[in-house]
Amino acid sequence: MTIAIYPGSFDPFTNGHLDILKSGSEIFEKVIIAVSYNVNKEGFLPIAERVDLIKKCVNKFPNVEVDTYQGLTVDYAKTKGAQVLLRGLRTSFDFEYELQLSQTNNTLDKNLKTIFLITKPEFNYISSSMVREVLVNKGDISKFVPDVVNEYLVSKYGI
Ligand code: ADP
Repeated sequence: MTIAIYPGSFDPFTNGHLDILKSGSEIFEKVIIAVSYNVNKEGFLPIAERVDLIKKCVNKFPNVEVDTYQGLTVDYAKTKGAQVLLRGLRTSFDFEYELQLSQTNNTLDKNLKTIFLITKPEFNYISSSMVREVLVNKGDISKFVPDVVNEYLVSKYGI
């Protein structure tokens, strides 16, 4: 069984993330969305809230799980028996960073392959950082994130 890890910060989970996840779940037998966190850096949303929101967004995909990890992605992937790292690509800007990351990971563990899926054009400008920026300035994020994420953030930030 091919297990893919889809690692990221997902802070918050966006329509772009969901698009890559949907395609990944059609290709691989199991996809684990792995939310990376650092105990010394909380991020925008606490890890438990990020996980809870992602679970609500993906509960209709039977072969998708949501988990968290700290430390090296390659070490986490090994504990899960995963052969693939799934990543999304938007622009050439992503490519430069992702190339370096995937080559580093493949050097650390030559059995772990990174597979990239290209985002659909309607999602390729969406990023978590842009969503955070619009949200804190009380803008409308409903076009960028799944409904459940929008509803949660709107109520949390009183917009
Ligand atoms: P990281 O902090 O590891 O970059 P992110 O949560 O920002 O984590 O992104 C996780 C993965 O999802 C990355 O591979 C990223 O390129 C991809 N991704 C982010 N936004 C989009 C989008 N709009 N369309 C497709 N892929 C995306």
